[in-house]
Amino acid sequence: MSIKKVVKYGTPSLRVPSKEVHKVSQKIKVLVDDLLDTMYAQNGVGLAAPQIGENVRVFVIDVSTNDEPLNPMVFINPKIIKKSGAVISHEGCLSFPEAFTDVKRYANVMVKALDRNGRSFVLEAKDGTLLARCIQHEFDHLDGILFIDHVINRFDAESELSKNNLPPLEVEKILDEPDLEPEIEKLLEEKAKKDDNAEN
Ligand code: ZN
Repeated sequence: MSIKKVVKYGTPSLRVPSKEVHKVSQKIKVLVDDLLDTMYAQNGVGLAAPQIGENVRVFVIDVSTNDEPLNPMVFINPKIIKKSGAVISHEGCLSFPEAFTDVKRYANVMVKALDRNGRSFVLEAKDGTLLARCIQHEFDHLDGILFIDHVINRFDAESELSKNNLPPLEVEKILDEPDLEPEIEKLLEEKAKKDDNAEN
């Protein structure tokens, strides 16, 4: 077990699709433990293998709060088997130190994966919880997709990146998300109305 260096935005391995795990070998278990150690050392809620330079389909999550016991979750060869609803998610990433922006996410996901012992499980995360959003964020890393590819306000994302000395937004990577966009528009309108009311 050891703490690894988290690669930063601009590192090519973050944009490379990762390979399936054929066997949950000792080597994979060591990788899982390194991911957990590194995630906890950085106070993150999730970390994917490409972020420590390993392009294999493994990520870890722990969304427990400070007063709760640790709850490490391991996802090997994950598949998102159901997704619905939309939510505006304010996100950051350990590969983007100090940079945060609003992105589009599904509110509900169902994921199927293998755990650290190679056993298959299915997990449902609903209502735009941190877990639901985190699963999508980490899953994307395995396909070379980054949270900024789901950006809602390009101008805001650009300024966050430049403020934190990170490379500029890769505009050509921004995803077209017809499933999410109408609902996100509605959420943005509601938010604007609420902000108006708060000012009055
Ligand atoms: Zn990330």
